[in-house]
Amino acid sequence: MQLNGIHHITAITADAQANIDFYCLLLGLRLVKQTVNQDDPGAYHLFYADERGSPGADLTFFAYPHAARGSAGAGMVHRICWRLKSAAALDFWERRLRDHGTPCAREQERLRFSDPEGLEHELAPSSSDDEPLPAKAPDIPAECALQGFDGVRAYSADPPASAALLAEALGFSGGPERYRLRGPSRSAFYVYDPPPATPARPGAGTVHHIAFAAQGAEHEAWRDRVIAAGARPTPVIDRFYFRSIYFREPSGVLFELATIGPGFAVDEDPEHLGEHLSLPPFLEARRAQIEASLPPLRNPRVAPSPAR
Ligand code: ZN
Repeated sequence: MQLNGIHHITAITADAQANIDFYCLLLGLRLVKQTVNQDDPGAYHLFYADERGSPGADLTFFAYPHAARGSAGAGMVHRICWRLKSAAALDFWERRLRDHGTPCAREQERLRFSDPEGLEHELAPSSSDDEPLPAKAPDIPAECALQGFDGVRAYSADPPASAALLAEALGFSGGPERYRLRGPSRSAFYVYDPPPATPARPGAGTVHHIAFAAQGAEHEAWRDRVIAAGARPTPVIDRFYFRSIYFREPSGVLFELATIGPGFAVDEDPEHLGEHLSLPPFLEARRAQIEASLPPLRNPRVAPSPAR
């Protein structure tokens, strides 16, 4: 039983349209699913990824228009690290971000910047030989495209407290501050940094949870392992696009184990992912009411409909 790298990372935004514009138009990701938060269907849940909507390149946002700006603290993922093909791509991104007015910091072979709400990202060439998951955009050369997640950095005041769960139950190697999760085909790093003095404040611009990829048939066995290590997982929840369990690891970071499939093409043509609001079957009967409560969004891949 092995987890297969990162499945997705979910964060919070207060401005769905600005979020789409930043992640699609600037970073070149594809909006692969427009749906709602299944636990709160009055809020959008937006999924960005590579062209195919692959686990390993999937960044998602709950959109709460009234969410106050948050700030990462102990028990939260504070930086999302993306793979680039080469160091040469850093020059492209440094120029592209600066031209866009997004401040960035270059440290040798890495480039750090934040989204408009303060969520931190880092781009760096990766030594990983996992299959690249390139995001394709017309104005980003293929050799410069983001290639999926390399790992994340989280804040913990007590990294050793997480060691038993991460290493013994979940199969992370290394520790207690720097871990590597190596699965059959995908790997990722998970690194702790000392937390800032300011308290953790979940909100817009912060990560809500991180999901790792699991085989569906093994979910109950993962639950048993996680319970044996002292965490308290939810039952298996059917999220329609994947099935999941959730639990907090001892540092406080919310973990999810999500199945690779069925995936985003379960209810949409792969050529047209994310162009319309998708609802899981249990919410379909409420579509009219849900649509009326959500602000319209502009997907840059969809030509505006002619004026009537
Ligand atoms: Zn999730």
